[in-house]
Amino acid sequence: MNGRQNPNQNPAPRQNQRPPQRKKKKYYFRPNKEGMQALLILVLIAALIITLLVLTIKGIASAIGGPEETTTAETTTAETTTEAPVVVTWHDDYVKQAVPSTDVAVGDLILVNFEHKYELTDTITKQLSALSNSEGYSKYFVLGKQGYDTKVRRNILPHLCEMLSDLVDASPVLGTTTEHDRVVINSGYRSTEYQQGLYEKQAVENYVAIPGHSEHHTGYAVDLNVFTAKGDTDVFRDDDQAWLEANCADYGFIVRYDGAKFELTGILDETWHFRYVGKPHAQYMSENGLCLEEYLSLLRTTYNFDTCDAPLTYITGEGEEATTYEIYYYPASADVNTDIFVPKAGTYSDISISGDNMNGFIVTVTK
Ligand SMILES: [Zn+2]
Repeated sequence: MNGRQNPNQNPAPRQNQRPPQRKKKKYYFRPNKEGMQALLILVLIAALIITLLVLTIKGIASAIGGPEETTTAETTTAETTTEAPVVVTWHDDYVKQAVPSTDVAVGDLILVNFEHKYELTDTITKQLSALSNSEGYSKYFVLGKQGYDTKVRRNILPHLCEMLSDLVDASPVLGTTTEHDRVVINSGYRSTEYQQGLYEKQAVENYVAIPGHSEHHTGYAVDLNVFTAKGDTDVFRDDDQAWLEANCADYGFIVRYDGAKFELTGILDETWHFRYVGKPHAQYMSENGLCLEEYLSLLRTTYNFDTCDAPLTYITGEGEEATTYEIYYYPASADVNTDIFVPKAGTYSDISISGDNMNGFIVTVTK
């Protein structure tokens, strides 16, 4: 290193050379009156901006905070579940009852529509009863288009006769002799062949179901009209129709096709077509404005034996007449038999099991 010194390496202090002292200029803040006012306004504006900022941040925080709180709640629930899992106890002491899995197509609640075919039409003839043999024939009703051979399921016959007898009693017009208008049953059970004939002759689409898809194949449906004293066939007068709609559920029947539910049923409004499903089911559907498709869907999803916290508890009647029902859905097994769990003997007065003609069974326990 000669001569030149690196300025960064401790330069030798220069003797007698003091860095020139800068004269510090002092600034004094001495606002006049206008200045003070301007300053005050500035401070106020700043305070306002800060307040607005704080409020905005709080708002955003609370908006984000909502879901966060929910998440916390969910986490807590999940933790609780882990600690003490919710145990379904309502059927703890239920016992197995083996039912052939093919019986999903058997029972009062089977669903037959454009999507669900009925396969047993021509095999159920032994379970049918001719209406002409019943005590109500030519008294509370006459027979129409299907004539003397009109048949229905044997088990629905007493309920049908009782309903029509009460209708005639309640009506100021309907009677039991030829001088009066009388109830006429135009259609009951239909064989596949009979339905095929109707389908080919149908004048209006969406009134006659494709063969295999008519409820009349099941024997649980009837078409009710009026046979007038003059010899014509007509629909019910408004008050008779209203009586039927208000009361048919008490006898286990539903007005099956409401035009408003066409998307689900595939059939237009049919005020004359009544379907037997059993009393508690008919009353529940009627009270809740559900068609059969909706009711079975509700049972399958909300009252499924495997997943629900409790069966559907439904009470019909009042006071001493009250009857409590417990209703639940049981999925059909892929095996030959389905072991359906039902209450122990002695804990109920009756149990009935019906297939839904889809994938399961509906268990109805009468307490
Ligand atoms: Zn019909």
